[in-house]
Amino acid sequence: MIYSLSVLLAFLSFFPVTSYSFIKQDTIINNSKNDTVPNNTTGFKIKTIIIDAGHGGKPTGTGHFSHGASGSFSSERNVTLAIALKLQKAIEKDMSEVKAVLTRSTEDDVSFERRAEIANQNKGNVFISIHCNSLPDRHARERIGTKRRKPVYRTVSVPDRSGKGVLLLVYGLKRTREAENEIKANQVEGDSEMGAGLDPDDPVTIILTNEYKRKFRQQSINLANLINNEFVQTDERPSEGMREQSIYVLCHSAMPSVLVETGYINNPDDEKYLNSEDGQNEIVASIVRALTNYKKEMELVSR
Ligand SMILES: [Zn+2]
Repeated sequence: MIYSLSVLLAFLSFFPVTSYSFIKQDTIINNSKNDTVPNNTTGFKIKTIIIDAGHGGKPTGTGHFSHGASGSFSSERNVTLAIALKLQKAIEKDMSEVKAVLTRSTEDDVSFERRAEIANQNKGNVFISIHCNSLPDRHARERIGTKRRKPVYRTVSVPDRSGKGVLLLVYGLKRTREAENEIKANQVEGDSEMGAGLDPDDPVTIILTNEYKRKFRQQSINLANLINNEFVQTDERPSEGMREQSIYVLCHSAMPSVLVETGYINNPDDEKYLNSEDGQNEIVASIVRALTNYKKEMELVSR
């Protein structure tokens, strides 16, 4: 389930100093339309990758939390942690001189605020959030009898297990009001007020939005496509492709960010795959291959 990232990434913006120092150190800002990759002269290096295991169990500290989805025998929060831990190990083993930092490493939940703090304090160059998708129940009308010769119906919830495969999400700009309505429509605990806490007329918000568009949007899309290609071509997973999530708070991330929906936890086949060692290893290997290619591309264009 995706809502946590949008909220989490909102908090990355609460550290504008960090994000600006990142931009200044590693990139040269110009006004060209295609200015989407760092192109400094000293050689850009991807040194730190932030791995975010979506959701969690018992909340630790204060802030905002989100519990995540459930399958028939497993929980999203446990699957995301298992994959994140494997991903950290694989990155540090296979990608030389790259540090992988986890936003949470135990079952306990870490607030969105704290996750963002961890990403910023560690000066992440890439933010990868691991999630599992889930479809909400469908509502169906079922006839339960007859009263005064008229049929009587009741509304029943029917699980929708039809979702299958991966989905990649990056930020896409949309009008604020729509985005706010979407956040409200999701009715995720605490999320709406956090979305509303960002003033779209605030100059800082506007500047960060523009910076994101210029610096991180295209990089996020590139990375999302690389990951998606690995899932589809190497692992032969079904994919819904890449989507730009139109929640405006996503634009406040201070680094290229991709949310990986690794599979549908409420689909029986996907749930089995997501909980299996082989499935988790396959997902991790695909993400590492994509990250390796992304790193190569990024460091090549900056030379
Ligand atoms: Zn989720």
